[in-house]
Amino acid sequence: MNYHELTITIPAPFRDTLIRRLVSIGCLGVIEQDDSFLAYFPETVDRASIRNELSIVQALLAKSGSVAGLSVHSSSIPDQDWNETWKKGFVPIDVGERFTILPTWEKTKQGRINLIVDPAMAFGTGHHETTRSCLVLLEKYAGRSDKENLLDLGTGTGILAIAAKKLGFQRVAAVDTDLLAVDATRKNADLNEAEGIDIREGSIAELNETYSFILANIISGVLVLLAPEIAAHLKTGGIAVLSGILAGQDDEVLEAMTKAGLKLIKRYPDGKWISLAVGR
Ligand code: SAH
Repeated sequence: MNYHELTITIPAPFRDTLIRRLVSIGCLGVIEQDDSFLAYFPETVDRASIRNELSIVQALLAKSGSVAGLSVHSSSIPDQDWNETWKKGFVPIDVGERFTILPTWEKTKQGRINLIVDPAMAFGTGHHETTRSCLVLLEKYAGRSDKENLLDLGTGTGILAIAAKKLGFQRVAAVDTDLLAVDATRKNADLNEAEGIDIREGSIAELNETYSFILANIISGVLVLLAPEIAAHLKTGGIAVLSGILAGQDDEVLEAMTKAGLKLIKRYPDGKWISLAVGR
């Protein structure tokens, strides 16, 4: 069987949403690149359903006021090339001092905290700058908190929640408004033998606990809206890492956090992205 390879360029904050939607209609896998990603479909997939998902996400993009748009290039590739192309896109990467992100078929690295992602699930693989920044800042500041409990807000693939569990947080909660993300997180938690993560569909407002650490890799607009909730759910002495912020939007996010009573600990740039560590 031949495959369709779509090269899709889309602003990063919308990438995961689109990938999830494509997976739900039969996308076999993705390979993430800098500003775009490759998505693979069997030739038999209904093209109208792909177009439909693309237009839904395009509408979301337009509604968000994003200046960058979505563009798609399609080509057909023969079966045998596909597996190789696919695997080449997933090399293990070291992140921070201790983490290594690797696909299921690679051997885990001794002496590192291995985070295994299953590319066949076609979700974000942690190769994105904002995910990496969260891991770096989590590792850097985990020791400053009491490590009692952590909230991964907008967990996506669950990668940050899994990392937190492996770093020794006693209780980890992972929430996402997208049910497909919740399913992916469950599968990834199993794959990583990260037990006991409280995985739920929903958002922060429905949670009644305060946390030692909060990770929120969402987008600036959502972070601004959620600032009061994030502050209210952070323990005194707790730390929140906020990511998914494009350079130039960091002041706006920080202002919302400051208004909610949080203080800047660290501004951490990576490419065109800025992550913020704030404390209470
Ligand atoms: N934490 C992952 C995924 C980030 S993508 C990582 O760092 O790689 C952002 C996720 O936030 C998406 O899965 C999206 O569904 C979720 N999300 C967006 N708005 C949200 C909200 N208000 N509450 C909870 N989750 C949200």
